[in-house]
Amino acid sequence: MSDTYVTSNTIAAIATGNVVSAIGIIRISGSDAIKAASSVFYPVSGKDLTEFPDRSLVLGVLKNTRGEALDHCLCTISRAPNSYTGEDTAELQCHGSPTVLRLALEALFECGARQAMPGEFTKRAFLNGRMDLTQAEAVIDLIDSETEETAKNAAGQLGGAILRKTDGVYCELVDIISHYHAVLDYPDEEIDEFRIEAYKETLEKAKGELKSLLCTFERGRVMKSGIKAAIVGRPNAGKSSLLNALLGYDRAIVTNIPGTTRDTIEECITLGGVKIRLSDTAGLRSTSDPLEKLGVNRAISAAGSSELVLAVFDGSEVLTEEDNEAIEAAKSANLRIAVINKCDLTQKINLSVIGESFETILPVSALDKTGLDALSDTVSLLFPIPDAPAGEILTNARHADAVSRACASIGEALTALNNHSTPDIVLTEAENALSALGELTGKTVREDVTRRIFDRFCVGK
Ligand code: GDP
Repeated sequence: MSDTYVTSNTIAAIATGNVVSAIGIIRISGSDAIKAASSVFYPVSGKDLTEFPDRSLVLGVLKNTRGEALDHCLCTISRAPNSYTGEDTAELQCHGSPTVLRLALEALFECGARQAMPGEFTKRAFLNGRMDLTQAEAVIDLIDSETEETAKNAAGQLGGAILRKTDGVYCELVDIISHYHAVLDYPDEEIDEFRIEAYKETLEKAKGELKSLLCTFERGRVMKSGIKAAIVGRPNAGKSSLLNALLGYDRAIVTNIPGTTRDTIEECITLGGVKIRLSDTAGLRSTSDPLEKLGVNRAISAAGSSELVLAVFDGSEVLTEEDNEAIEAAKSANLRIAVINKCDLTQKINLSVIGESFETILPVSALDKTGLDALSDTVSLLFPIPDAPAGEILTNARHADAVSRACASIGEALTALNNHSTPDIVLTEAENALSALGELTGKTVREDVTRRIFDRFCVGK
C-alpha cells in the first residue's frame, strides 16, 4: 500500500457493535474526514464543523444528504498529526441504533468517504508512525482479551512495553554495526579499532535481555490460548456437576443415571486466573452400548491430549475398577489433580491408593460448591505468572519468533567474536539480529506480513 493511498482516501466505519446500545460511534479518517463529517453534521451553534478547534465536543444534528434529521448527537474532530491515525479524523457519537448508524454511514459514503477495511484505522496509525507494530497488535489483543491478566498485558503492550524492552538492544546493535562499517569501509580514516571485549559484554547483556523476554512466552501462550484440560472419572462421580459448578451455570446434564454424558462437552473457563478449555468426558466404564463406548474412547483420548486432567472420584464410595481406569487415563497428562467429590457426604474412599498416582488431592463438593477456591489456587500455582511487569509477557507467536531469531543471531555473533572469526561474520550476524528486531516493531517488516496482521482486526478499529 503506497503512502499516497494511505493519506488520500477518507474512510468511515461503525466502530461499535451491531447491537442496540446507548451510544454508537462512527469513525471517519483521512484528508477529507472533517469535510465529510461537516456535510452530515450541523452544530446547534450554527457554526460549520470545520471552524471548531481540535478535540472540542460539538452538539449538533445529524442529517442525511436530503437534509432529513437522523439523530441529535455529538461530534469530535482531531486534525493531523494529533489523532489516532495521524490523519484528520471525526467521530460521531450517535444514539446506538444500528439503523441510525447505517443511515449515517450511507450519508458519509455519499459525501466522499468509503467503507474502512478491517483494521484500517490502526494500520494507518502504524503506517503514519503513531505506533509501532507491537502496539498495533496489542489493540486487537486488548479487544480479544478474556481474562484480567491478558487485558492488563495487552494494555501494557499498547503503551509500548515491548518496544521499550527491545529498543535498548536495537540501539546497541546499531552502534556496533555502524562502527564495524566505519572501520571496514573506510580503512584509511582514523577511526577507533574494533573494541572486541566491549562488544562481547554488550552482546552478552543483550542476549540475556532477549532470552528473559523469550522465557515469558510460555506463560503468554497459556494466557492467550489457554490450556487444554479434561475432567475424567467414572459415571456418577460428579464430573458434570463439577463442570457446572466451575462454569457457574448448568451446562452439562446432571442425573444419577450412570452414562448420561455420552459425548465430550467443551467449555472455556477461567480458573485461578488461567484460561482453561475444559472438556467434560463420558464416564469411564466398560459398556456394551456402542454410542457410550465411543464416548468412553473419546474420554481416554481427551485425557491423553490434555495438559491438565481433573480426575473426579466419588468420596462417599469405595474405589472401583472404573476408578482405576480413571487413574490410568489421568496418568497420560503431565499435570493431574485428584478431585474427591461429594465431601458433603460420609467419606469411604481410600485416599492412600489415590495418593500413589496424584501429588495433589482436593476434597470438593460440586453440590455445595465447597473446595472450589482450593482448586482454583492449585491451578494458579501450576501455571505461575512470571515476575514481569504488565506488557512484558510475550503472547504473540510472531513476536516470540522475531525475538528468538534476534537472540540466536546475537549468539552467533558472540561465537564469531570468541573464535576470532573475520569481522564480516560478526557484522552479518549483528545485522540479522537487527533485522529480526526491526520485524518485531515493524521498522523492517514486509508488507504481506503487515497485511496479514491487520486482516485479523474488526472493521472500525
Ligand atoms: P457424572 O456422571 O460424573 O457427570 O456425575 P453427575 O455430575 O451427573 O452427578 C451424578 C450424581 O451425583 C447426581 O445425582 C448429582 O446430583 C450427584 N452429585 C454430584 N456432585 C455431588 C456432590 O458434591 N455431593 C452430593 N451429595 N451429590 C453430588
